[in-house]
Amino acid sequence: MTGGTWRRRVSLLAAFALVVLLAACGRDDSRIIEHRLYAMATWIDVTLPVRAAREHPQLIAEIEAELRVFERDLYPWTDGELARLNAALSAGEAFEASPALAAVLVSAQRAAVASDGAFDPGVGGFVELYGFHDAAAAPATRPDDAAIAALLASSGSIRDLAISGRRITAPPRRFLLDLGGIAKGAAVDRIADRIEALGIAPALVNAGGNLRVIGAREDRAWRVGIRAPRGEALLGTIELGAGDATSTSGDYERFRDSDGERLHHIIDPRTGRPVAHTEAVTVIAADAETADAASTALFVAGPDAWLEVARRLGVTAALRVDASGRIEMTRAMRDRIQTGTSGDSAIIAVVD
Ligand code: AMP
Ligand code: MG
Repeated sequence: MTGGTWRRRVSLLAAFALVVLLAACGRDDSRIIEHRLYAMATWIDVTLPVRAAREHPQLIAEIEAELRVFERDLYPWTDGELARLNAALSAGEAFEASPALAAVLVSAQRAAVASDGAFDPGVGGFVELYGFHDAAAAPATRPDDAAIAALLASSGSIRDLAISGRRITAPPRRFLLDLGGIAKGAAVDRIADRIEALGIAPALVNAGGNLRVIGAREDRAWRVGIRAPRGEALLGTIELGAGDATSTSGDYERFRDSDGERLHHIIDPRTGRPVAHTEAVTVIAADAETADAASTALFVAGPDAWLEVARRLGVTAALRVDASGRIEMTRAMRDRIQTGTSGDSAIIAVVD
């Protein structure tokens, strides 16, 4: 293995965006407490009023149990449902998916269509080829051109799937669908829906930078910090209102720098290579699943297409940091973000 060191940063507070709850405690009955779990290869934080945690003593255990099912069934390199789907489709067989998996596939396919294939879970073969599928394995390697070309020729896209209710069929291709670009958002929505159904508020669920707010805080708005893609500073903080979700995709989460090239985990499905034109994208949306898919889609879509893809996905508040550290954002994001002094030499442009 040449040059560079494998670095997997799991910050104390979050994995992708450094999400800081800039919240102090209010009066006693509105005090909040953060519960931390490790699942889906990231830290998951569930922030609840102290009172709610007391009144629902089983809630955190139930959430953890649900996450265990999610990480087994939505992760392809295990013996869960997504692995079985990939095996069936690759063998030319139809597959009867659970309602939960079918729903995520429908959302993922919609994001793939809206982004002209910039977002496509069909990149799983490349994720594996680079070595990003196994968090414990290191370091990432640069595959040779022939291996990339062969995979480009054989890989099936999520756009190939015919989804009819729970029945999934596809033309004969090799399918290694990897839902890593959307599954954490889907999980956050499931947990947030459960909390909401119990009438608990305010609350916040954060899975590695995929975050949704339930209800408004009495004392102040929820504020989360967005980590600058280089260095340890914050790029800024955004204010989230009741029901808002946000997601950040960055090239600094799983990567290895090799001969001046950053090998990282977000792959352009059209080239089979890590995206080089973008360092980070942050979006705000009405649900965490949309936000998760959108941040990945916009990351891959790049300088010419990202605003159009955001529009098609219904995302108005979006921010992109390009490969030179320049920050551009939509007006809706400009209205929500407070940038600090930590942007180094970043130029901030409003682009719509
Ligand atoms: P995120 O951090 O949400 O942007 O998701 C990144 C993860 O999504 C990667 O670790 C892969 O598992 C997967 N992925 C990589 N490239 C793509 C892509 N172009 N479309 C969809 N998922 C992707
Ligand atoms: Mg994503």
